[in-house]
Amino acid sequence: MRRSWQVAEVSAVRAETARARTLRLRFPDMVAGVPGQHVDLRLTADDGYQAVRSYSVAAWVPPRELELTVEELDDGEVSPFLVDVLAVGDQLEVRGPVGGWFTWTPDRAGPLQLIAGGSGVVPLMAMLRSHSEARSAVPARLLYSVRSPDHVFYRGELDVIGQEDPQVVIDIAYSREAPDGRPVGRLTHEAVTASCFPPEDEPVIYICGSTGFVEAVAAWLVDDGHDADRIRTERYGG
Ligand SMILES: Cc1cc2nc3c(=O)[nH]c(=O)nc-3n(C[C@H](O)[C@H](O)[C@H](O)COP(=O)(O)OP(=O)(O)OC[C@H]3O[C@@H](n4cnc5c(N)ncnc54)[C@H](O)[C@@H]3O)c2cc1C
Repeated sequence: MRRSWQVAEVSAVRAETARARTLRLRFPDMVAGVPGQHVDLRLTADDGYQAVRSYSVAAWVPPRELELTVEELDDGEVSPFLVDVLAVGDQLEVRGPVGGWFTWTPDRAGPLQLIAGGSGVVPLMAMLRSHSEARSAVPARLLYSVRSPDHVFYRGELDVIGQEDPQVVIDIAYSREAPDGRPVGRLTHEAVTASCFPPEDEPVIYICGSTGFVEAVAAWLVDDGHDADRIRTERYGG
């Protein structure tokens, strides 16, 4: 891990939804890390004012690049700039990758249960990508809660993984608007229980999203009998 700030250049951008985009950053030297880690970005205004925000790594692109996916918040200070203004060729100060707890690598035993609320899918996507690349035989499930079909990140790739990898089950839950025939509503305890591996399978569980989402889901899983030591969480704020 790099503790010092370094300058990375935006080498590509890609829209994920109307309000979220993936930024590919190129570093001067090799950059490496594991799924689940994040980096810190530091922006400096002309008057010297600085803002620092954390963003999970969505993908590692060896040897010198990685990808982040940022969702714009209406009243946000930094995310609208990253989503609407930043362009290919621009430079950013970056520190990291950071984090050793909320990480998963394919050598980890046990079924893999991923649960995302909104942009919380980003580090879980890095885990799923790693699972696919390693052709892992570990069964994996992703429960992904989003507002509507238009809010789904990585749609095409998730469809491919869900269809082609027999070890992976992808379950998207819609809170405000759903495709035809699918139920709509906030994620419930019952829906989480039904979608997840049961406690007797002893899954390792990763939950990521807003603080309220993460705390509610983690409490339901402990209620269901999952061992709290096997539940890892990442809170994005809000
Ligand atoms: C470890 C870590 C990894 C993260 N990874 C990602 C990522 O991959 N993609 C991503 O888009 N964001 C991610 N975030 C959130 C990100 O760091 C910023 O908080 C987010 O982009 C908002 O910054 P902002 O400056 O636009 O908003 P701010 O100006 O900081 O906040 C504006 C308002 O939104 C509220 N708010 C802040 N964050 C959230 C949130 N996540 N949900 C709802 N309300 C919020 C604040 O309380 C405030 O009221 C991550 C956060 C952490 C801690």
